[in-house]
Amino acid sequence: MNYNNRLRSEILARGGEFIATGNLIHDMVSKKWDNPTGAFNIALKNNLVEMSVADDWKEARKEWKATGNVWYIPLADDATEVLPEPHRSSHPHYCVCGHPIAWHFEIENTENGRVEVVGSEHIGFWMIVRHLVENLEMDPEEVTQERVQEWVKESIKSMKAEWWWSQYGEEFEEWFTAIREQDLILNVRDGPQYYDNDTRRYEYKKLIRKKGVGTRGTNDFQMPSIVWRWNHPDNDKTAQINTTGYPNRDLWNDLQMFYFNLDKHNAKIAEMHQERQDRIEQVIEERRLADEAQAQREREQRARAEARAERIRLERIEQQRLLDTAFERTCSEWGIVQFSAEDGRDDWEQDFLLKMIGKINSMAYISEKQKQRVIKIINREDEPATEKQLAYIRALGGEPNPNLTKRKASDMIDQLKNPQNSVLAGEEEE
Ligand SMILES: [Zn+2]
Repeated sequence: MNYNNRLRSEILARGGEFIATGNLIHDMVSKKWDNPTGAFNIALKNNLVEMSVADDWKEARKEWKATGNVWYIPLADDATEVLPEPHRSSHPHYCVCGHPIAWHFEIENTENGRVEVVGSEHIGFWMIVRHLVENLEMDPEEVTQERVQEWVKESIKSMKAEWWWSQYGEEFEEWFTAIREQDLILNVRDGPQYYDNDTRRYEYKKLIRKKGVGTRGTNDFQMPSIVWRWNHPDNDKTAQINTTGYPNRDLWNDLQMFYFNLDKHNAKIAEMHQERQDRIEQVIEERRLADEAQAQREREQRARAEARAERIRLERIEQQRLLDTAFERTCSEWGIVQFSAEDGRDDWEQDFLLKMIGKINSMAYISEKQKQRVIKIINREDEPATEKQLAYIRALGGEPNPNLTKRKASDMIDQLKNPQNSVLAGEEEE
C-alpha cells in the first residue's frame, strides 16, 4: 500500500489521473498517450475525439473501453464473412487510425454507445483496464500491466486459433485422424539396438522423430512427427494444441503432404510388416529344423548308449561265466582232476594249493612253474589214484584199474577226453 500511495501522489503531482494500481500506473502517465506523436497515433487521437462526447483528448479517451470482442481476419481474407455489423460496413481491415489490421479489437464509447474497431497497437491499456474491472469485475488492485498484456495475448491467441479452426478445422481433424497411426510408425528415427527374440536379430528401437532431417520441400526431407508436434501426450512443452491452440504453417503443410501420400505410406508400412513376418516365419522354420536335427541326434545317442549297455551286460555275463567255470576249465586244460587244498601232503602244499585255487577262481596270472607244481602235487607217481580220479574216469566212460597211480589215472583221463591226441601220440611212439 505504501508503494501504491507513493505512486498515487507522484501521479497527482504530475497532473495525471489514478485509475488503477500496480505497474499499470507507469503506462498511465507515459507520454505516448498523453501527447501522441507519429502519424497513426495522432490520427487515432483525432478520430477518437471526433467520435467522443468530450472535445478534449484527455477526457475523451476515458469514455472508451474494450468490449472483449476480438476478430482475427488475415489481410488477404474477406472480412465481411466474419465481422458483424456495424463493423462489416464501416472500415473492415482498418483501425480507427487508418492503419491496415488483421486483429479487430472492438471498443465502445460508454457516453454515447458508439462501437468501433482498433488494431492491437491501438487498443489502449486503459480501455482494457476498464474492460477487466467493469465487464470482468476484476479487483482494481489486481489490475497490473502484466495482467493487461496477458489479456491481449490471450485474446489474440484464442482468436487466431478460433479463426484458424473455422477455416481449416474440419479438414485438419479428418486428415489428422487418418494419418495419426502411420505418422507414429514412419516419422521415427533409429534409437539404440536391442535383440529381438522373434526376428532373432538386432533391431533398432524406434523413437519419435522430434526434429526434421533435411530441407522441407526436397525429396529426402524427413518430417518431424505430426502427432508429436500437435498433441502427443508426452509433449507437454511444445505440443501446439497447448501453446497456440492451432497448428503452425509447417505442421499444417506437413500434415497435408503426409495425407496426400497416405497410399504410399500404407504400402511402405505393409512392406515393413511383410518383411518382418517373412523373417519371423523363416526363424520359426530354422528353429523347427534345428529342433528336428537335435531330436535325431538325441535318438542316435540313446541308441548308441543302449547298444553299449547291452554289450557291457553280455560281457559281464561272459566274464561271470568264465569266472564260474574257471576252476573246472583250468583243471581240464591241465589234465588233472578238480582238486582241493586237502590234496596237499603237508601244510606248505596245502597252503600252496589253496593259493592256486584262489588264483584260478579269480583268473589271476599263474606262472608255468606254479602250474607244473600243482600238476606234480595232484598227479603224484607214487600215490594211488584218488577216488575223484577213478570217478572221473568212469564218468568219461573208462574202466579204471583200482591199482592205477595218480599219474596213470591222469594220462587215462587225457586219453578219454582227447582220443585223437592219444592216437596221434600212440602212432608217434610206434
Ligand atoms: Zn490504429
